[in-house]
Amino acid sequence: MKKPFISEEKLREAIKIYPTPFHLYDEKGIIENLEKLHAAFAWNPGYREYFAVKATPNPYLVKLLTDRGCGVDCSSYTELMIAESLGLSGDKIMFSSNVTPAKDFIYANALNGIINFDDITHIDFAAKLFKLPKKMSCRFNPGGYFEIANQIMDNPGDAKYGFTKDQIIEGFEKLMKYGVEEFGIHAFLASNTKTNDYYPTLAAQLFELAVELKEKTGAKISFVNLSGGVGIPYKPEEKENDIMAIGEGVREAYERILVPAGMDDVAIYTELGRFMLAPYGALVTTAIHEKNTYKHYIGLDACAANLMRPAMYDAYHHITVMGKEDAPCDHVYNVTGGLCENNDQFAKDRSLPKIDIGDIVYIHDTGAHGYSMGYNYNGKLRSAEILYTKEENFKLIRRAETPADYFSTFDFSDDFKDLAKK
Ligand SMILES: *Cc1c(COP(=O)(O)O)cnc(C)c1O
Repeated sequence: MKKPFISEEKLREAIKIYPTPFHLYDEKGIIENLEKLHAAFAWNPGYREYFAVKATPNPYLVKLLTDRGCGVDCSSYTELMIAESLGLSGDKIMFSSNVTPAKDFIYANALNGIINFDDITHIDFAAKLFKLPKKMSCRFNPGGYFEIANQIMDNPGDAKYGFTKDQIIEGFEKLMKYGVEEFGIHAFLASNTKTNDYYPTLAAQLFELAVELKEKTGAKISFVNLSGGVGIPYKPEEKENDIMAIGEGVREAYERILVPAGMDDVAIYTELGRFMLAPYGALVTTAIHEKNTYKHYIGLDACAANLMRPAMYDAYHHITVMGKEDAPCDHVYNVTGGLCENNDQFAKDRSLPKIDIGDIVYIHDTGAHGYSMGYNYNGKLRSAEILYTKEENFKLIRRAETPADYFSTFDFSDDFKDLAKK
């Protein structure tokens, strides 16, 4: 059974101060999970998690991680601004972008971040912008299908990312000519994986590539970046990944492939997003409408603008009706938002307890790829983000948008600038 990380009573305290909807984050859960991740990779002295900022680009939350040793994985100019605002630079920043504008490369380089190229043509492109730094990385895409034990996990051959095998060999040689001395390799081959074998299987592929690259080019490989992709159990019947087993599986591949090749000083990096924060965030909403037609609808004060995954991927997000955790799930509802878009439905034909207007409807696992994918369709405003601190207090970490924010891009306009003041 999936349980909220906060009691109904506590949540009602928060709602007195901050009206729904809002995203709520569990500081204690975030910190404990990070400690487990660090324990799982403690065998590797150079290990570092670079939190994928795009998952939850709130500097307060990113700081919880970077205060505890993490770096950041950025892929855009504004994500780099978050890194800079947290005082990060150098090896604490991984810049894993694609279709990269020149000004983004220039900014990443000015912060001395590690640039992870997505495409071979970016090498010459960047070398025209600045002298390439001593340490650089390339993103690998093996093509074909990514399989574990003959089971297809994902389809890298259909993905826009990364260098082919031939390109990464040529790319390393090119980078060495530009004076690059230390190399990383990176790959992200499957998303939201629910098996302890994803990282170990990926690691083995990248370790073999690292050995081959060292032999063919003489490059010094200083890190292997396993990127993101470790999943979480969105559905109550799904099993949680065991991060200790995952770390152990990567260690086993390291001992088997890298150590015999004399590469026992390679650092392991990760760029987890979902695994770091998704379970430790929830979208807190109120039921404001009920409608009976061909289906039984419950309308919330939140909509897909606050959480897009169900509309975009048909993703499952578990729902708890606060205070009715033990009531029988004897009603079948479609739980919707108010966008003029029929895909704005958080759940379809979901068995839930009877929902009354005013009930708090708690949508689980929104801590990553939740708020961050939000948008303003239908003029809907983005919600606040609140941290439930480890001392069990509530801290505003982003205020809700107001109409003035929505209209702020008319502040230049003589005709409509008054909208931007309302
Ligand atoms: C999105 C992304 C991640 C994080 O992915 P999760 O599925 O949230 O773990 C890491 N690295 C890169 C380059 C990404 O694009």
